[in-house]
Amino acid sequence: MDPIYEYYGNIHMHTTHSDGTATFHELVEAAAGVGLDYVYVTDHNVLVRDKEEGYRNGVLTLVGQEVHDEDREPPGSHLLCLGVQEDLTPLAKDPQALIDGVRAQGGLPFLAHPIEEYTDLIPDHYDWLDWDVTGYVGVELWNYMSRFRGYATSKWRALVLGFFPHYFTTGPLAAMLAKWDALTQERPVVALGGTDVHGKVYRLGIIRRRFLPYDHCARALNTHILTREPFQGPGGAPRLPWSDPRVAHDRALVLEALAAGHCWIGYDLVAPTRGFRFWAEQEGGRQALMGDTLQAAEGAVTFHVTVPDTGEIRLLRNGRVVSLARGRELHRLELEPGVYRVEVWKKRWGAPRGWIFSNPIYVR
Ligand SMILES: [Zn+2]
Ligand SMILES: [Zn+2]
Repeated sequence: MDPIYEYYGNIHMHTTHSDGTATFHELVEAAAGVGLDYVYVTDHNVLVRDKEEGYRNGVLTLVGQEVHDEDREPPGSHLLCLGVQEDLTPLAKDPQALIDGVRAQGGLPFLAHPIEEYTDLIPDHYDWLDWDVTGYVGVELWNYMSRFRGYATSKWRALVLGFFPHYFTTGPLAAMLAKWDALTQERPVVALGGTDVHGKVYRLGIIRRRFLPYDHCARALNTHILTREPFQGPGGAPRLPWSDPRVAHDRALVLEALAAGHCWIGYDLVAPTRGFRFWAEQEGGRQALMGDTLQAAEGAVTFHVTVPDTGEIRLLRNGRVVSLARGRELHRLELEPGVYRVEVWKKRWGAPRGWIFSNPIYVR
């Protein structure tokens, strides 16, 4: 393969510019402490790129926004707008216009937490409500915070959740995986993982607990990207503003990787997923990374998976497992067209955990 560079970071984060509890400074400190390469901050209905974006503390700190219609009843249809220059909140009332507006700015629209569970204790939910829209780049397959809603079936469980979140979560919602598999039958749809970190403090009687704080989220769920060029920043500079050409270069690399689906979701709290690779080789020498498309007529395709630690590696075609291996690698020759993707599951804390979710390689 050509040289490939890997970077990882948190996507979908909130700060005190909207309803998060950390300032940018605190958020970046938590990210730097964990060693993240980048963060993508998306505060609600506000765009603070010019003020906050840049290299900070060695972390590429990118700023988009999460836009929704505040008057909508029932609420829903939150859109992550990455790579935009101007606030798109004025278009919030019309999801298709909003998506088109993001694209018109060269940005990437992703549907945030498209399917959410809820309980009597936490009845609020903010699903995507407008499935007839077109033109979005992808979906937030796994929203880390949202995934906990369905587990909070009682005050007691909510309390345990606050202290031992890792004990509960096992991966994206099955309904969301099925929805994504259906969408990718029609066209490429990129999946990313978002933490939706807010770091809010909850109270139950005399107990106060900060739920899913920033440093925990930085460790937990990341989107790893593959690029053909290395990042240029920070080059020893403590801080570079958003307008610095090195920031522009590295921002473009992140956006290109996300747009192309050259990325996977790593539940890094289970074990680091750095070094995971999923690629395909076709008769005649063509190669494909996750996110790429091959033509079935041009020959049989061999899929390769390597994993940085042992796990149960599942190769899926159109949402169904076609090959399974336990260990660190899987190799499989396939003749049929289809949408091929990989899940790796790993036992941790007494249960199988969804550890890695790749983007698909499309064989049309
Ligand atoms: Zn949201
Ligand atoms: Zn959010």
